[in-house]
Amino acid sequence: MTIASINPATGETLASFEPLSDGELDQRLALAERTFGSWRRETAAARAQALSRAAEIFTKRREALARTATLEMGKLYTASLAEVDKCAGCLRWYAAEHERLLAPEVVATDAVRSYVRFDPLGPVLAVMPWNFPYWQVVRFAAPALLAGNVGLLKHASSVPQVSLALEAIFREAGLPEGCFQSLLVESGRVARIARDRRVRAATLTGSEHAGASLARVCGEALKKTVLELGGSDPFIVLPSADVAKAAEVAVAARVQNNGQSCIAAKRFIVHDKVFDEFEAAMTRRMAALRVGDPMDARTELGPLAGEQLREDIDKQVRRSVELGAAVRTGGKRLEGRGFFYAATVLTKVSAGMPAADEELFAPVAALFRVPDLDEAIRVANATRYGLGACAFTRDPGEQERLAAELEAGSVFINGMVKSDSRLPFGGVKLSGYGRELSSYGMREFMNVKSVWIGGEQHDGKAAVE
Ligand code: NAP
Repeated sequence: MTIASINPATGETLASFEPLSDGELDQRLALAERTFGSWRRETAAARAQALSRAAEIFTKRREALARTATLEMGKLYTASLAEVDKCAGCLRWYAAEHERLLAPEVVATDAVRSYVRFDPLGPVLAVMPWNFPYWQVVRFAAPALLAGNVGLLKHASSVPQVSLALEAIFREAGLPEGCFQSLLVESGRVARIARDRRVRAATLTGSEHAGASLARVCGEALKKTVLELGGSDPFIVLPSADVAKAAEVAVAARVQNNGQSCIAAKRFIVHDKVFDEFEAAMTRRMAALRVGDPMDARTELGPLAGEQLREDIDKQVRRSVELGAAVRTGGKRLEGRGFFYAATVLTKVSAGMPAADEELFAPVAALFRVPDLDEAIRVANATRYGLGACAFTRDPGEQERLAAELEAGSVFINGMVKSDSRLPFGGVKLSGYGRELSSYGMREFMNVKSVWIGGEQHDGKAAVE
């Protein structure tokens, strides 16, 4: 099977690549193991400098890198530029924070000296999705490489050019050969890589099915995993909110990345008192979105990344309508070239429908009417997922309750959910486990090592073990 790059706006094949042979893969794993031996001994400052140089390359090449992402997976060019800039920012943040993040923590015990140090684990396998093809990888790679690990990227088969560009950036930044490798292989070979004794841990961002399959293999081999999986994030609007503002943010939160973001708001849970106003404003805005060529700066909604995604959402919408949901706008594929689907608002959505129970990975919003805050929280938590959650309210008491009671890895009040290098990112329930970003993400792939040093005390007495 060849790994192909297909432009989702036209269906045209841009490039194709032969996957690595078993022999080549073995050589790559051997190289990763060798490089880890030297990379872990570099000073943290040297590793941080390498990340800073990678950030410079992202910035210098931002237009070309953004263009590659847009042509390969269809996101708006403006969004691709923002993604490239975010990668540079993340690399700079980890580089700047390296002393604080890697400094040993002194702990007073019965030892002469005791402390906790943070050591790398070794080669880490990262299985990544196509939807934020640079960002998903960099938010793994920046902390992992700074920690002294080496990275083995198995990117989504639909974004081979981005995958190769990432390897080239880290090489050009001066990271040694083998420190960050892009492995062009099909998903059927991930289990073999994960089982290999040279791979010490693994992370996957993607679907539940893929996450469970990697976790099963790593579980059998007792290797640490971090999983960032799907989401069906709630977006709650309560009566004290600025409803017009909430509707504006709701559209942005739903259609970001052409609707294909794990932390896109998917279920809009609106208090009865402001439901009609919100529904009208959101429907008006969704219907008015300019759909078209993602390279055109005026476009507000581009295509889905592949035909299968369009078939999936079409089925989910049609089944929800059969079960009683109402289409306020959209609800159909858009004819012509490319994998376009109309911006859609569904109302009268209830449990048992795909629009309520499943992840909608497309620009389709499901609206729920609720009588009070208790019901809003109940509906928000009535999902298998728990990635992000967002709520609009000016009431401090409601804000505290929402922060405490929403079952999600992140709660954003009066703003849409987003990732930020300074804050941990991850989920609960079927959205996965473990964290990325911040110091929490960095520690996931480190040996948190206790060091206890005894011997003669200053007062001449022997230390007690
Ligand atoms: P996917 O099919 O699970 O693919 C993700 C990655 O896993 C790809 O590299 C894929 O390789 C690989 N893969 C697929 N099946 C596998 C298996 N059985 N064993 C090992 N690896 C396997 O996911 P997707 O549909 O492309 O991405 C969308 C999903 O990702 C959504 O559910 C979305 O919410 C989730 N996501 C989550 C986050 C987060 O941070 N929580 C962020 C972004 C996306 P191939 O391409 O070669 O199949």
